[in-house]
Amino acid sequence: MPINATVITTDEWGAKPPRVPSFELTTARYVVVHHTDSQNPPKDSSKRTKDGAMAFARAIQNDHFKRGWSDSGHNFLNTTGGFVLEGRTGTVDAIKHGNCVRSAHAAQDPGRLPKGNESPGIENEGNFMSFPMGDTQWASLVSLCAELCTALNVLPANIRGHREFSSTDCPGDWLFGQLPRLRQDAATKLGIEISPAEAFGAARLQEVAFGEFGPHVMALQRRLLGSGFSPGAIDGIFGENTREAVISFQRDHNLKVTGRVDKLTRQALGL
Ligand SMILES: [Zn+2]
Repeated sequence: MPINATVITTDEWGAKPPRVPSFELTTARYVVVHHTDSQNPPKDSSKRTKDGAMAFARAIQNDHFKRGWSDSGHNFLNTTGGFVLEGRTGTVDAIKHGNCVRSAHAAQDPGRLPKGNESPGIENEGNFMSFPMGDTQWASLVSLCAELCTALNVLPANIRGHREFSSTDCPGDWLFGQLPRLRQDAATKLGIEISPAEAFGAARLQEVAFGEFGPHVMALQRRLLGSGFSPGAIDGIFGENTREAVISFQRDHNLKVTGRVDKLTRQALGL
């Protein structure tokens, strides 16, 4: 696997042994993107160096031990210098065999996507609520996502953000808004074409409906607004205003009025 060539393993960065003998092997459904919610350059913890990246990985593991966890909660750390480090022990070995290890980065909250902890979680150093990620870190994120998609047989459309699984603002508004570009860039790296709908993460869904979160909902909201039906804030949350806008759109286009975005409604919206 090419992933071995680019990842600094737990042995290399001096991880402490986990508090359990091993972690359950899992089948990944997604690649889950996070931010560490820590300082951005020039005050970033790793200072864009390899030594700094390894020290940051050790600090995070210590922090996760203090929370009572059995090891680092994430599977990978991608630092501001573009260094990628293994998180939870055993991750790289598992991925070589097409599996992941059960981790602790994406708790399952009600009404959100399931099985985040069975999928690899990438912590990106920084706080990306409004701060844009630098080119070096972005390039290493794209490469890692592409490698994980190949190794774990995950479609680029299923590169997701932490907030789709848990009640959190992680990976930050800016980075969450960049997920369509991340999917597109990963797909380009893999030499595969994805449709705009897939880039927006809609491929998995037959219907989009009240209560859903994610870039696919943001794409829907933009299309509604562009068609003259305001869904309120373009926030990626399918709430009451989005539902009202879908109903108005369906009425206007002589579609069955359900408030849910079924296949015909999606086609009429151009999604
Ligand atoms: Zn997160």
